Amino acid sequence: MDDELARPPRDVGSADLQPIRLRELADRDPAAFRRLCFRLSRWPIVTAEDELALSEYIRSGPMSVIDPGQGVSGELLDEFQRRLGLQRSHGLTVNSATNGLHAAYRAVGVGPGVRVAAIGYTFHATVTPALDLGAHPILMDVDPVTGNLRYEEVLRTLDAHSDVQAIALNHNWGVPCADIGRIAELSRSRGIPLIEDCSHAHGASVDGTPVGGFGTVSVFSMQGKKLVPGGEGGLCFTDDAALHAAMLLVGHYGFGRAGTPEDESLQQTGLGGLQNRMHPLAAVLARSQLCRLDRVLRNRAENAARLREALREVPYLSFSEPPAAHRSSHYAFRARFEPEGADGAALVDVIATLRRAGAPVELDRGGPLSRKTIYREQIDSPVSRLDPARPLYTDHDLPNATEFCRRSIILPVFSRDPAVVGDTIDVIAERIHVSRKTMP
Ligand SMILES: *Cc1c(COP(=O)(O)O)cnc(C)c1O
Repeated sequence: MDDELARPPRDVGSADLQPIRLRELADRDPAAFRRLCFRLSRWPIVTAEDELALSEYIRSGPMSVIDPGQGVSGELLDEFQRRLGLQRSHGLTVNSATNGLHAAYRAVGVGPGVRVAAIGYTFHATVTPALDLGAHPILMDVDPVTGNLRYEEVLRTLDAHSDVQAIALNHNWGVPCADIGRIAELSRSRGIPLIEDCSHAHGASVDGTPVGGFGTVSVFSMQGKKLVPGGEGGLCFTDDAALHAAMLLVGHYGFGRAGTPEDESLQQTGLGGLQNRMHPLAAVLARSQLCRLDRVLRNRAENAARLREALREVPYLSFSEPPAAHRSSHYAFRARFEPEGADGAALVDVIATLRRAGAPVELDRGGPLSRKTIYREQIDSPVSRLDPARPLYTDHDLPNATEFCRRSIILPVFSRDPAVVGDTIDVIAERIHVSRKTMP
């Protein structure tokens, strides 16, 4: 079968990727060069193997898997653990990480008025399921350089709020939280469950322990942009049989190879009353994509290293590299803007200059969760069960997360083989170097 990662996407000709052609395009039409970079970095990549796996499954079924431990769901859970080197006792497939996190929060007892110490900078779905349950999220600031949670911040928050009943974090942009081991230890010693959102970090690890091995409950997204895409879907893992059983009750009517309720009537209805099952075709696609995860991670790491190396001399850029014993999933490629190296130019102007030179760079328009209305005002909506007594935030809260975003320069991540994208990466770096001559 033809090897999709070893060639350009169908809408890019191999000849277009010759260095001379790349340079010519970037000179003549910088915007077209940037578009070429985005086509080359497009994700997910769906291959002929994926199509075959899907079409075979459509013919053979079954089209609904009731027990998430069985059939293609069970196979996906086992294969996922094996490939990542995870060794959790219980797994559960769900139709999204958001619903997986919702089930996890409910299983650990988060409900109206409960305080959750949550990372204040992440994709909102790390925390919104807790809000939906009526909890009070206490937003914690992050490290301004890595964007990840620090142990000291968690400790400070737990000491300031003795009634916190859950901790939640995300490994932002695939860089594993360097303090995750100590945070997990703190969670155990205080008896406060840790919800580990791993949705950016499939295959990342800390000192040999894979991300997903730390949380009381660990949740991965299989949404279309994530590293093991099923289109929509998620996986939850825990070592606690009771939590697994509780999550089965929230979204699977209690069906499962472990933790099946004794009471038949309970199994028929479930207590949670929700239906969060993963679509079997999503599981088939995710299982097929999983076969390439190692190679995709290797390619991303090699391509990122090449770009970082080529940009090392740029005085206004820096790169925070995780310790050698930590492995990133390279969910995103971000550089940090160093104003001292830019002769007083503002980042917006630097970005504009870079883009005019053809460099595919973007500003980070995100920010901490505290910028979202839902965390700033007691908004009312016909469906929300937001607790009116929950804490609210302003622009002054979470200054580190704000700084992290304000200083981020986002570049594309390339998943194809270095032999395919290497020359393009070199030309991107050239454009960035060249643009210094025309800096504002
Ligand atoms: C994508 C994502 C989610 C939500 O995943 P879905 O499967 O789309 O519900 C949650 N947390 C983080 C950090 C994410 O990136």
